[in-house]
Amino acid sequence: MVNDTTLLLGLDGLAVTRVVAAGDGPQDGPVVCLATADERARCCPQCGVAAVRMKEWVTTRPRDLPMGGRRCALRWRKRRWRCDQVSCPRQTFTEQVPQIPARSRLTLRLRQASGAAVGDGGRTVIQSARDHDLSWPIVSAAFTEHAHRVLPAQPEPVTVLGIDEVRRGRPRWVLDEATDTWTTAVDRWHVGFVDLSGDQGLLGQVEGRTIAAVTGWLNQRDPAWRQHVAFVAIDMCTIFKSAVRTALPQARLVVDHFHVVQLANQALTEIRRRLTVQVRGRRGRKGNREWELRNRLTRSAARMHARQLDPMVDDLQALPARLGRAILAAWNAKEDLLDLLALARTHPDRSVIAHRLFRFYDRCATSGLPELHRLATTIETWWPEILAFLQTGITNAGSEGTNRVIKTTARDAYGFRNPGNQRLRTRCATTRKGRGHLNPA
Ligand SMILES: [Zn+2]
Repeated sequence: MVNDTTLLLGLDGLAVTRVVAAGDGPQDGPVVCLATADERARCCPQCGVAAVRMKEWVTTRPRDLPMGGRRCALRWRKRRWRCDQVSCPRQTFTEQVPQIPARSRLTLRLRQASGAAVGDGGRTVIQSARDHDLSWPIVSAAFTEHAHRVLPAQPEPVTVLGIDEVRRGRPRWVLDEATDTWTTAVDRWHVGFVDLSGDQGLLGQVEGRTIAAVTGWLNQRDPAWRQHVAFVAIDMCTIFKSAVRTALPQARLVVDHFHVVQLANQALTEIRRRLTVQVRGRRGRKGNREWELRNRLTRSAARMHARQLDPMVDDLQALPARLGRAILAAWNAKEDLLDLLALARTHPDRSVIAHRLFRFYDRCATSGLPELHRLATTIETWWPEILAFLQTGITNAGSEGTNRVIKTTARDAYGFRNPGNQRLRTRCATTRKGRGHLNPA
């Protein structure tokens, strides 16, 4: 009964009766005629009893995936049955198999392939629609079904959790007529939770950069999951700090070197700009050595050749005294901080850490520059978390890498109107590796 063509087509419950050769066009595929090959197809969808009285023949032409690069036209000649059960309100129904439900104009596998191309293949909805010859709404709905099928409802336990925010588009405001005030309809921030110790990728996102949003997501996890989190990597954001303190009291907070270095470089740049205006009466420009060195100043001296480093220090000393001395002090403070952060992953001795930290604080205090005083205060505020970085070497780089994927997805889609859809797309894109879709083998 089962012939080779039926095996080749692989639609369960349907048998190929014949194949009619294609037309002349390069895109024209053959016409595949199908017959029902499953007894269950004649069971009434409402009462489940197999029908015995046929009403008429009908032909359905669902679209299917291409075969060998050509689109085949399916013709399924099937029966419409009458349901004779007295208790059943259904009068007639047509045959259906799981791959081709009644009234469906697509095979299930075509619908699933179009959704998987978006969720697992990294394609945009419109490109998947073009590839599968479908419309945008069909593929979008197929993607949503696919995402809910493949994404785990609850994340697996993680040891190191990363929390980071990413901006999505502009905020939207609505006027509250009653109080005559504007309130945000759509928050422009998404806060993401990333598995930094395993390969689960982005575990979830919430809308809004607030303590309530972050603790809300964490409290949705079961207590065992929350207990399992030993470290949480964040950037220097007090919202995340207090949210983690509330929801995960046992976890140790870690702030990695990336944001600390960024702060030090900002302080250095602010000092250079402020003193340039004070000494020269205008902004820096070509011909001003400190302006020409602006990018070299924020580079790490450990990564610079002596050929570049020594002339830079000489040039700074040759500047007008007040300007050169301040920039050099700020640069030295930044380098002291980098020396301190370089101790991470070396199992540093407490006395070494204390010595380098004191040298940094001392440099900031004696400089007399308010920007450096502020930098030292920030470091002091966040010192327990920075010390945790020196001792564990945990960084939030995984979250920053995830943000890159989030932004690429948003650009590819030319932005999202619906934040819920964006979170689902983002979650699929950032978990592709963990779900085994980036492995070339
Ligand atoms: Zn029935």
